[in-house]
Amino acid sequence: MDIKRFTVKSAHNFKLSNFKTDDTGNFSKKEAKKLLAKNKEKMFYLQDKLYAHDRYSVLIIFQAMDAAGKDSAIKHVMSGLNPQGTQVTSFKQPSKEELDHDYLWRTNKALPQRGRIGIFNRSYYEEVLVVKLHNLIKYQKIPSEFVKPDIWKKRYRHIREFEKYAYENGMVILKFFLHVSKEEQKNRFLERLDNPSKNWKFSSADLKERTFWDDYQKCYEDAIAATSSKIAPWYVVPADKKWFTRLVVSEIIVQRLSKLKMEYPTLGKEELKNIGHYKEQLLNE
Ligand code: ATP
Ligand code: MG
Repeated sequence: MDIKRFTVKSAHNFKLSNFKTDDTGNFSKKEAKKLLAKNKEKMFYLQDKLYAHDRYSVLIIFQAMDAAGKDSAIKHVMSGLNPQGTQVTSFKQPSKEELDHDYLWRTNKALPQRGRIGIFNRSYYEEVLVVKLHNLIKYQKIPSEFVKPDIWKKRYRHIREFEKYAYENGMVILKFFLHVSKEEQKNRFLERLDNPSKNWKFSSADLKERTFWDDYQKCYEDAIAATSSKIAPWYVVPADKKWFTRLVVSEIIVQRLSKLKMEYPTLGKEELKNIGHYKEQLLNE
């Protein structure tokens, strides 16, 4: 699959509206399911190598409007991974302790170790999305001389610089924006209300946020344009059909991880020389 059309390489002329929400790439649901299963197998082997090689770490960020399918993408795509090498962290409204620190503190604490895959369900990007949209900066205890109208531009820069720093230390960063339409979000909210086993997912706060739809799209557009780079591009993934979202996400992960130069560690010279001896020792026990 050509993942270029989902990739935002630079800010130049980036418009969210140029990306379709209902794209299915001419795949049928059945084909997509088969390919997802294959990709999950590939991911399993890539993760095994990542763990053994123990040099790179992988950070996968999911951002989206409510009900765009973050949870289900995480559940389905990652279900084939070895839990020992994976950690999912969800970021909600910050706690009092978190607000007592700089805004990257809580996400820094959750970054993956070498050899591991860390998944962020929401991330430090909330700091230039919901925080910007609702002007929550006033709760962040930042000295007033730093709270100027250009604070968002500065935050984009912090994020770009942080991602470059992480990249140059061996972190592979994949950022997914699950791009759902307003109409499909409505369908999913209705489903949450109609289906008792999905009631728990409904929150009236989501309805309130829905009234800010256009403002959110604008915030996402600005943030994606300002923070897409060659080393940490954003992927805008069509999210009206969940089965296609999962396929695209898995495909991008497989393609990115396949490019890493990873090797299984080999035995040292001395040990290699003595392999026969070790075997003999075990067999003659
Ligand atoms: P679900 O699919 O279960 O609804 P969710 O990620 O939307 O998952 P919620 O508990 O519903 O989880 O919402 C978390 C809320 O926390 C979101 O509205 C999000 O915008 C908000 N949030 C996350 N990070 C921050 C932040 N740094 N500052 C303020 N609000 C934040
Ligand atoms: Mg929610």
